Amino acid sequence: MLSVKHWIGGSLVDGAGDRRLPVYDPATGETQAEVVAATADEVRAAVRAALDAQPGWRAASLSRRAEVMFRFRDLVDANRKEIASLLSSEHGKTVADAGGEVARGLENVEFAAGAPHLLKGGYSEQAATGVDVYSIRQPLGVVAGITPFNFPAMVPMWMFCNALVAGNTFVLKPSEKDPSVSLLLADLLRRAGLPDGAFNVVQGDKVAVDALIADPDVRALSFVGSTPVARAIYEAGTRAGKRVQALGGAKNHMVVLPDADVDAAADAAVSAGFGSAGERCMAVSVVVAVGSAGDALVPAIASRLGKIRVGPASDPDSEMGPLITREHRDRVASYLELGEVVVDGRAAVDGPGFFLGPSLVDNVDTASPLYTDEIFGPVLSVVRVDTYDEALKLVNDNPYGNGTAIFTRDGGAARRFQYDAVCGMVGVNVPIPVPVAYYSFGGWKASLFGDLHMYGPEGLQFYTRTKVVTSRWPDPATSEVDLGFPKVR
Ligand code: NAD
Repeated sequence: MLSVKHWIGGSLVDGAGDRRLPVYDPATGETQAEVVAATADEVRAAVRAALDAQPGWRAASLSRRAEVMFRFRDLVDANRKEIASLLSSEHGKTVADAGGEVARGLENVEFAAGAPHLLKGGYSEQAATGVDVYSIRQPLGVVAGITPFNFPAMVPMWMFCNALVAGNTFVLKPSEKDPSVSLLLADLLRRAGLPDGAFNVVQGDKVAVDALIADPDVRALSFVGSTPVARAIYEAGTRAGKRVQALGGAKNHMVVLPDADVDAAADAAVSAGFGSAGERCMAVSVVVAVGSAGDALVPAIASRLGKIRVGPASDPDSEMGPLITREHRDRVASYLELGEVVVDGRAAVDGPGFFLGPSLVDNVDTASPLYTDEIFGPVLSVVRVDTYDEALKLVNDNPYGNGTAIFTRDGGAARRFQYDAVCGMVGVNVPIPVPVAYYSFGGWKASLFGDLHMYGPEGLQFYTRTKVVTSRWPDPATSEVDLGFPKVR
């Protein structure tokens, strides 16, 4: 059985632990590889390698660090197909979708290549007579990232590009469910000229994560995954004195007003609800149909679902792949027992692969687990309400606050929604409003624990700390002893 290795100090390292975790081919249900879960000692070895590499990497000039990002960008671009097919073989998403993931990841590399501009500080000349004050941004040291199964290439890139270019070194703990892409990215970073030890990968699960939290040499943790784990890592990490940003789960509402273009809204709901089999933190999970909107929208969505080709990623005609594990597929399918099912995807559940077809449930009660749970699969709920205010209340009362969207032809209504929505990312006639890399990504409420969003400007802020220098080069003629508190006037 193929065993997925760690990447420590610039090379592949066999796992020495005795716990083995299966990596499935979700399309066939077979186990295709195993992760040998990292022990605390192996995590320490990775942190040690990162610690040893950090002073040298920090000392590399800004242009040198940016150059590594430029080279990495070209290598990722040249290897898009290989990354996408490796990714889809373990995750199950279609190769086209995996290619989209790589493209969105690349944006973060490109952003990080602009670090010399982005890491500029401030300078105040003559803050007092002969005194200048300036701020500089410095790296934190060794930082770690813990990532989910659903974006095994893009989410690590959200983190390590900014972390590295700012002069930190990095330890990644990818999802144990689709771990191999992390090693391909590690090799591309090496080929781009990143020094050995600056980027490390430890494979595994909670044991590895706990070792990262406990390690005093890890200065910051970036986490993306489910809300209970995000909350626990935020609490344990901050208690250990670390800087933490922990992004959690979601329940994204797409509000459709009666004046919306029905076909455009139906296309958007289907794309955002069923792309990547609904396993996206920005997937639309609930359509909130206002007034009469549902009467035309529900049949329009239903008519599209029958045409979606569900199949393995290896088939270029497939539009929607399987779910990540059998257990997850069965859990998602169980929600179809709970409501008024308009399209039932359970017909696709035959054979050993973890497939579930696209499913639609109408008139969902907001007390039902269909509405209250993050389902994370191809089940789209429709909640019908009478007014905009009721729709807004649903969005704002929801414990999650990742993304939301409004579909309307009324600019005033859209602007009001953008103003009112208690949510980190809002789409106006855009169903998955994942910000471009020069903004930052993050939800509100139980979708993010911490103060700074991920990637973009806030990402660079997260991975640096500011130092303010007050400097005096006095004119010797004005020098004198002054025991008072420093004054500027
Ligand atoms: P998960 O929380 O199960 O796992 C995420 C990571 O944490 C993995 O690396 C896993 O090994 C590790 N982990 C799991 N349990 C742990 C524990 N008890 N202690 C320490 N570490 C633990 O999430 P997942 O199933 O891989 O991913 C799906 C979830 O991620 C969904 O809830 C989805 O909404 C969320 N997600 C959020 C975003 C976002 O940006 N907000 C993006 C992608 C995914």
